[in-house]
Amino acid sequence: SERTLVLVKPDGVARGLVGEVISRIERKGLKLVALELRNVERGVAEQHYAEHDGKPFFGSLLDFITSGPLVAAVVEGTRAIPAFRQLAGGTDPVEKATPGTIRGDFALETQFNLVHGSDSPESAAREIKLWFPNLAG
Ligand code: ATP
Repeated sequence: SERTLVLVKPDGVARGLVGEVISRIERKGLKLVALELRNVERGVAEQHYAEHDGKPFFGSLLDFITSGPLVAAVVEGTRAIPAFRQLAGGTDPVEKATPGTIRGDFALETQFNLVHGSDSPESAAREIKLWFPNLAG
């Protein structure tokens, strides 16, 4: 069993898709071990997306992710990291995500792609520590 960091980004919260996302996580058989609605400080957003520092969309990505409340969650289960990436679909909701995925079913634009999920065990460990520093292992 492993853990992954999931975000329902501000577009997902604003559009009322939190329940939809949580429901798909639960129906897949994954388990919630932490769940919180919160507003993100820019510093946390910068650390979360540090790998994109310097890219043309970095500033607008930070503006977007801090634009309103988001839902942060830690999700656990067998192969939780790739399992949630499968539920989410590809980064570009039209060109990459297929119907049946969260992005494929509900999103149109790459920036406003509703959810985030850690992409590796290293990212998951780093992101869970960043978002839930007090969570017990
Ligand atoms: P996430 O890390 O949010 O799960 P991802 O791993 O599918 O997404 P990344 O390539 O890590 O995709 O990009 C992180 C986020 O940055 C994307 O989810 C999207 O919101 C935004 N993003 C990525 N590429 C672009 C782009 N070309 N233009 C605008 N926003 C982008």
